[in-house]
Amino acid sequence: MYFETQKISHQLVAKNTYEVVFKRPKGFVFTVGQYTQVALQHLIHPDPKGRSRQFSIATSPLNLTQIAVVFRDTGSGFKRTLLELPVGSLVTLEQGAGSFGLPIVPTKPLVLVAGGVGIAPFISYIRTIAVTTLPQPITLLYGNQHPESAAYRNEITLFAKKFQQFRLEEIYKQPTPALFAKYANKLHSATWFVVGPPGMVATTVYGLEAAGVHPNSIIKESFDGY
Ligand SMILES: Cc1cc2nc3c(=O)[nH]c(=O)nc-3n(C[C@H](O)[C@H](O)[C@H](O)COP(=O)(O)OP(=O)(O)OC[C@H]3O[C@@H](n4cnc5c(N)ncnc54)[C@H](O)[C@@H]3O)c2cc1C
Repeated sequence: MYFETQKISHQLVAKNTYEVVFKRPKGFVFTVGQYTQVALQHLIHPDPKGRSRQFSIATSPLNLTQIAVVFRDTGSGFKRTLLELPVGSLVTLEQGAGSFGLPIVPTKPLVLVAGGVGIAPFISYIRTIAVTTLPQPITLLYGNQHPESAAYRNEITLFAKKFQQFRLEEIYKQPTPALFAKYANKLHSATWFVVGPPGMVATTVYGLEAAGVHPNSIIKESFDGY
């Protein structure tokens, strides 16, 4: 199902990283962790991959007025066009899709592993559970090149200060399987949610499985295209 809607705004949320906000269309349904396909009416800058891309939704389903997506500005014709589109421009969003289901009331400890803009489904999650109490500990392992490139860093830090059950661990070095094996040994009873570029997801899963984490306890989503 497709919905025509309008761009409301865009803002810089980290170095070279933008959140673009659209008006949430009536009838647009999604759950935390799902993605949407954003299609532009035309391209101002040519793009060999065309005028649409998939993005995880960064807003909470509880936000009935806005849908936001977040990405690095790679210079692709699609992203340059989306950023240059004036407020009020029409775009098409596809109904929320995907099975990356984050439990709103977890029954086991969770570890969320985000590589760069892989934070998108987790910020949607944080924005959703912010109005509940956390029944289980949640650890966010958030990897970026530098603090300046960590999108939503202030928002997440404030959330971690407010909720003692939530722990933020920032990683500013090249991730290796050994690094994740070390975390797996500390957090062995957890369910793992891993999101980011394909290489980062593969490295993480390899490290976790090598440390004995059962594949059923690892839920992953690769941002193919990076
Ligand atoms: C389920 C799912 C969810 C996803 N969620 C997200 C998300 O939340 N956020 C997100 O950012 N991505 C997400 N992606 C990936 C997204 O769909 C794009 O593939 C990705 O953002 C790269 O798009 P692009 O337009 O930058 O690059 P593409 O045009 O696809 O090109 C790939 C690379 O080529 C280079 N490149 C392309 N054009 C130029 C140019 N003109 N000048 C210089 N370099 C260039 C860039 O380095 C770019 O990264 C998701 C993918 C999937 C499958």
